[in-house]
Amino acid sequence: MVISEVIKCSSCGEAYRARIGVGIDGYQQHYIDCIKCFLPIVLAVRADPPNATIEATSNCEIIPRIPDDKLTIINFHPACAFNKEDLHDPRKFASMDMLSILHKHVRVHENQRMISLSHDFDVPNAPTKWSQLKTALQMLLNDKKDNAERIAKIYMKKRNEDGRYYIPGRNYSHLSLLYEYLAKLHYPLAPAIAGPITDKLNVLKAEGKLDDFYKFYRQEIKTENLQRYINILSSYMANRDHFGQLMYYARVSHDDIDDLIVSSKNFDSIKNFYGDAYETLTSNVTVLACINNITDGRSYDEFKSMTLNKYIKDVSKENKTNPFKTNPLMSAFCESDLESTIRNGSHHASIWHDGEVIKYRSGGTGAQRDISYTRFLYLCNKLTIKIVALWFIEIHLQYLFESESGELQLFTF
Ligand SMILES: [Zn+2]
Repeated sequence: MVISEVIKCSSCGEAYRARIGVGIDGYQQHYIDCIKCFLPIVLAVRADPPNATIEATSNCEIIPRIPDDKLTIINFHPACAFNKEDLHDPRKFASMDMLSILHKHVRVHENQRMISLSHDFDVPNAPTKWSQLKTALQMLLNDKKDNAERIAKIYMKKRNEDGRYYIPGRNYSHLSLLYEYLAKLHYPLAPAIAGPITDKLNVLKAEGKLDDFYKFYRQEIKTENLQRYINILSSYMANRDHFGQLMYYARVSHDDIDDLIVSSKNFDSIKNFYGDAYETLTSNVTVLACINNITDGRSYDEFKSMTLNKYIKDVSKENKTNPFKTNPLMSAFCESDLESTIRNGSHHASIWHDGEVIKYRSGGTGAQRDISYTRFLYLCNKLTIKIVALWFIEIHLQYLFESESGELQLFTF
């Protein structure tokens, strides 16, 4: 569904017609710079399907539409980017193009005739549900199991409004709640990256080769890694209105995006994300390095040429993947789009935005580099998917041991 209103810039009086594809969250914001005075304008869509309305949020007002007004049209969609020539097309329905890209990737039931992107490929109101899941996880971390269970029940009830995910009276582990939510938001790519490694973990577990590593993991890594996952996903969800415009492309590795532009931009709120996400991934890959040591036939803490302590303390972020870069199981974590140069720019506040282009300097003094705004969003999403894939590996490792030891936290719905 596309809804439309005439908006007028409060600063200079220029009027536009905004055509906005209604996404699947109850509240979505869209950011543009006024074409005439370049000051930022913010619009919002409040949706309670089948109804949706546009609200003027900042530096604009909604004015009555006059027939044949010849105003500039601007198309928006929270889950799509546009070809340059389609951005102002009054007949454009971006979600149709998206359906044709996603069609072969969406999981549907046998008798299902229609695809619903909101339910088959996404989680409606994902940021609200994330805040519930996150709070339940944090309660568990603080040993407040009763509070965690209460919040998990609120989450399951809310999730059941989207479909029959949880059956009353049954027990669900916190790991299964988390997996269902993250998988629905990041398949097919995140499970495809994690799958070969979790299969390998099953074999190693059966052979008794994971026991020492799991003890170390539980004692030294688990909590800190979890906190980093929670922080970066919270940062993503706070900016889902921005990242969402490229997420579906990233999930199906639809890499042909350089001719696309997004209509909603607010660089200030996303500029640190790449650097933060890169830190998260390169900190948490210690898990992969240890698993690689085991698959190479060594102890989990014995590298080819160094100790685990040295790896954790002395190896720089951009070299963290070196010990396992020849392991085909882990190649997705070593791709070149893990560009440490963008990380350096993002991390050292040497990144800025000029229209469609993001400019950055590596290390603050290195050569200036450019990428398109669209590709920056795409890379942020790709990195997020890899972080989630790594999280899946840790979730699986915990499940293998906790389901056996009786430590698995179960919530009754
Ligand atoms: Zn203006």
